[in-house]
Amino acid sequence: MARRGLFRWKIADYVARIASGIMGPEEFDSKVLARHVVDAIRHVGMQLRDERNGVLVCPICGRGPFTKRGYFLHLTRTHYSQLIDLVEVEADRIAGVAKNVVS
Ligand SMILES: [Zn+2]
Repeated sequence: MARRGLFRWKIADYVARIASGIMGPEEFDSKVLARHVVDAIRHVGMQLRDERNGVLVCPICGRGPFTKRGYFLHLTRTHYSQLIDLVEVEADRIAGVAKNVVS
């Protein structure tokens, strides 16, 4: 259980890093997480990167503008469980698409 909790924290942390631009989606990789989860983290991170005239705005609640660091903290503090939900939905979607391709 504790291990799974750590995992979830990592997922939210990576999504927030990509969304805030602290880390590029191509820089992110993980040997621990399954391939479709890595892809889901990249996709969700990019979906949440809403940059308008050089400032970051949160597309979930509309707050902002944020600096990179400020947006990272906003996401991990305010939307922690939403980040994980979004990644889980996206990972399921990717896994479903992959299955359809094979069969
Ligand atoms: Zn927000």
